[in-house]
Amino acid sequence: MKRAGTTDPYKPSPWYFAGRKMAAAQRFELGPLRANCYILEHGGEALVIDPGWPYGLEEVLRRVKRVKAIVATHGHFDHVGGVALAKEITGAPFAIHERDVELARRARELTLRYLGVEVPEVPPPDFTLREGEAIEVGGLEVRVIETPGHTMGSISLLIPQGVFVGDLLIASKRALSMTSYGAVFTGDTLFRGTVGRVDLPHSSAELMRESLRKLASLPRETVVYPGHGPPTTIGEELEHNPYLMDLL
Ligand SMILES: [Zn+2]
Ligand SMILES: [Zn+2]
Repeated sequence: MKRAGTTDPYKPSPWYFAGRKMAAAQRFELGPLRANCYILEHGGEALVIDPGWPYGLEEVLRRVKRVKAIVATHGHFDHVGGVALAKEITGAPFAIHERDVELARRARELTLRYLGVEVPEVPPPDFTLREGEAIEVGGLEVRVIETPGHTMGSISLLIPQGVFVGDLLIASKRALSMTSYGAVFTGDTLFRGTVGRVDLPHSSAELMRESLRKLASLPRETVVYPGHGPPTTIGEELEHNPYLMDLL
């Protein structure tokens, strides 16, 4: 198997507020299944989302300072395969939803079975995540939304609209409208133009529909960073994604 590096790094413009950098997300496609690993940076701290593959991960993480946590959107092997290495490099704790802990524990075995590649054992989580909880990254609140369906412990991570309201007290109304959007990291629940598989063991089409309804109710301008493929917005998906259009 050829060594998978950091292909097609995607660097969206950082969000600016009154000339001050607020937050930035970078996307790296890792491994043969090209799962997106995201680095979210804010206020001198970072969150590593879905370090799915150990090969090429060191180059991605070397430049990142002060990693607050390593979070998996779900337990599939293409999203957790690099967790052990990410912990070793950053010293940060690993978090996942309780209901996907077992799936993550089996990642090494499944990577070997499906891809014929050896990856290190995924360590048990240092803490688990639930609906309504938040991880604070350099003063930015990243909220956990439970979005089961693809797996029972699938989560999305939301930076809500208006989260910068503390800073906006000193702002003009124009600046307020410029920054009044959010972002959501959706794992394998919602992609650009499609949704995650629900024909796998431990998946549920019914729960997936509910989860997609939850995501569809976010503000239309919300930027969607999926587990595979390019970013999109909730509004774009409501208009073009047949699975979301079906729900309405
Ligand atoms: Zn998956
Ligand atoms: Zn995946």
